[in-house]
Amino acid sequence: MPKKYHIHPKATPLDLDYIFKFKIVRGEDCINCGKCSKVCIYEAHKRSKDDPRKMADPNTVVCRNCFRCIQECPRGALEKSLDTGFLNTGGGYWKADMLISLWKQAEDGNVPVSGAGYRGPFTGPGFDSMWTDMSEIVRPTRDGIHGREYINTSVELGRRLNHLVFGAEGQLISKMPDTVDVSLPILFDVPTDKLSSHIKFAMVKAAAELNTFVIMPVTDITAEFEKYCDNIIPRLAVTEIDGHKDIMKKARIVSIDYDNVLLNNLVGLREKIKKVSHALTIIRIPAVKEVEYTATKLAHDGAEIIHITADYRGRELDSAKGSGSRHLKDIIRSVHQRLVEDHIRDELTIIASGGIAMAENVTKAMLCGADLTAIDLPLMIGLGARIFEDREKYLVFPEGLAKIPTPIVTQRMINLMGAWHSQILEMMGAMGIREARRLRGESGRAIFFEEIDKDTFGKLF
Ligand code: SF4
Ligand code: SF4
Repeated sequence: MPKKYHIHPKATPLDLDYIFKFKIVRGEDCINCGKCSKVCIYEAHKRSKDDPRKMADPNTVVCRNCFRCIQECPRGALEKSLDTGFLNTGGGYWKADMLISLWKQAEDGNVPVSGAGYRGPFTGPGFDSMWTDMSEIVRPTRDGIHGREYINTSVELGRRLNHLVFGAEGQLISKMPDTVDVSLPILFDVPTDKLSSHIKFAMVKAAAELNTFVIMPVTDITAEFEKYCDNIIPRLAVTEIDGHKDIMKKARIVSIDYDNVLLNNLVGLREKIKKVSHALTIIRIPAVKEVEYTATKLAHDGAEIIHITADYRGRELDSAKGSGSRHLKDIIRSVHQRLVEDHIRDELTIIASGGIAMAENVTKAMLCGADLTAIDLPLMIGLGARIFEDREKYLVFPEGLAKIPTPIVTQRMINLMGAWHSQILEMMGAMGIREARRLRGESGRAIFFEEIDKDTFGKLF
């Protein structure tokens, strides 16, 4: 039995101001009696370290909204109110609730608990219109979902053979292609927003610890990253290859931005790369209308790995804003189906990215047909970044982040992935799937709202 893959989260609070749904505030009427610190079992109220006669500011991070301190305060000095930051942050896709959840997961690596008494809708756009079949949950309270059997989250990147060829004497003739294993079906993708080098460095260190990769623009890979070249995928345009041969030589995988020229000259590109490096090659394709055609053509020409990138909300890149643009889940399903029809799906690896916002989105993208995913924004949100979707996305990093030591930034990324790993295990266990490789294209394990809606009401309306 292989050694169990385990992520080690550690409580790593960030001493930075963040958004909360509700903020708890101690007013001027407080007489510092300390009753609130006795009644709050979550230790949100503590005495000031500098002056124990006074109460410190309440710690909203740990508050669970039970309202007990508010009821018990003899002076009515405590108040819980809706945070204005909560109202003004996020948007239609990256909702403020989601941001808070990601931030908390990065804090301690714990799985977020939600759903009890849930009164919201059970469907929505994108991944929210997809449910997974959890019918394999058997005695979770007695056995634990993944208590007895090992659930493997590792996946393979690279080209695979459709079949093996043996010689007359039974000897293997087929040449086995090189592949690379990652322990988690998640790669890190450096966002296009301006990032400080200490955040990039933390991404690389976290990826090394988690046994995955960071896809990083080749021009960002300075000498200080050299030690981690085993976990960095240099990303570059075809025209940049000649200028970065040294970096490509050391890489295990390289990512090449799709260019129309590649559609009819993938073989030429692969030969060019082969002269420089033994690295596997990812072709990074924007999720535009004809992405199925491009992916299939490249697959037939021998592409090893194709990375399909949607926008930050998981939407197609070239469609007019609003109606008609497909979501990543539909794009991946369509590409996967096309490759299956062409009998070539098993031979290559598909990475999906754009709009992967929660752990469940990883599993859902794989059920739609991806082998693995790549993420960028959730890692930034785990560091306290806020997203504003007003017109176009912009990321705002909290003040003071630059002074947070790299090991803390790294640990928060590890924590977030620890929480996601646990959630992926829960989903796989509940679906009865023990190997992440088996998730790919298992759409029979999912229910799509659009399909059942059409089946049920299509004839009536
Ligand atoms: S219970 Fe009320 S008065 Fe007493 S310390 Fe807490 S906030 Fe202040
Ligand atoms: S509302 Fe409950 S959890 Fe929050 S600070 Fe007061 S007692 Fe603690």
